[in-house]
Amino acid sequence: MVNKRSVFLKEMGIAPVWRKRQGEVHQGEMSADAEETLSADASPASPSSVSALAEAADTASGERPIADMSWEELETAVSSCTRCGLCRNRTRTVCGVGDRNAQWLFIGEGPGYYEDQQGEPFVGRSGMLLDNMLAALELRRGSNAFIANIVKCRATDEQGKDRPPTPEEVATCLPYLKRQIELIRPQTMVALGKTAALSLLNMDPATPVGQLRGKTHRYDEIPLVVTYHPAYLLRQPTEKRKAWSDLCLAVSTHAQPQS
Ligand code: URA
Repeated sequence: MVNKRSVFLKEMGIAPVWRKRQGEVHQGEMSADAEETLSADASPASPSSVSALAEAADTASGERPIADMSWEELETAVSSCTRCGLCRNRTRTVCGVGDRNAQWLFIGEGPGYYEDQQGEPFVGRSGMLLDNMLAALELRRGSNAFIANIVKCRATDEQGKDRPPTPEEVATCLPYLKRQIELIRPQTMVALGKTAALSLLNMDPATPVGQLRGKTHRYDEIPLVVTYHPAYLLRQPTEKRKAWSDLCLAVSTHAQPQS
């Protein structure tokens, strides 16, 4: 039987076998041409306004502060959330899935059509690719990996098509993810795409993804590696090699003892 890891490696153009070489870290390929355009029409807010909004969103409502919630309280709060306009068109909220004690946390942008229907992140085609990426790291969504999104409800335009969340939607929803991160306390985080990377790193919206790849960032002291979003990789399969390189960086970061 062909295992999922070899399927992914084949997809990446690296099959038949990838073996991590002694001392192999990352090839550090970065180029402005490699810019991810997935969310090119998004215009993220300035870092300071995003964090101010996120703080306000965490404390403004009458319920227990999100920062103090248990898993159960968090899931209940997300499922009935009306903090922003995304609640109006959603079918289901998508809080996240996986191992609550995971060492690995993968973070995408937000649910699309299928995720909105099923209430689980990454269940469409990009989800299959993500599952193969996890398998290459010998992970599964229920086993040592958790998958979450920056926003918990699907964002659509007037035509009902997926769109990136607005800066306000991101800021309003971010406290939920922050609490998830605190509860999981992962050893390594992987930001999938521009929205996830910029929102977590609180960076200038004009920063190209290419500039964020190839180094290990920190989110609240937790190492964070940035790679391309699986949906982008489906559209630009030639970029999969770079995503593989990012995963190699994540693996070597993960293997390093944390102080
Ligand atoms: N894209 C994302 O960023 N997240 C999902 O859950 C699905 C698609």
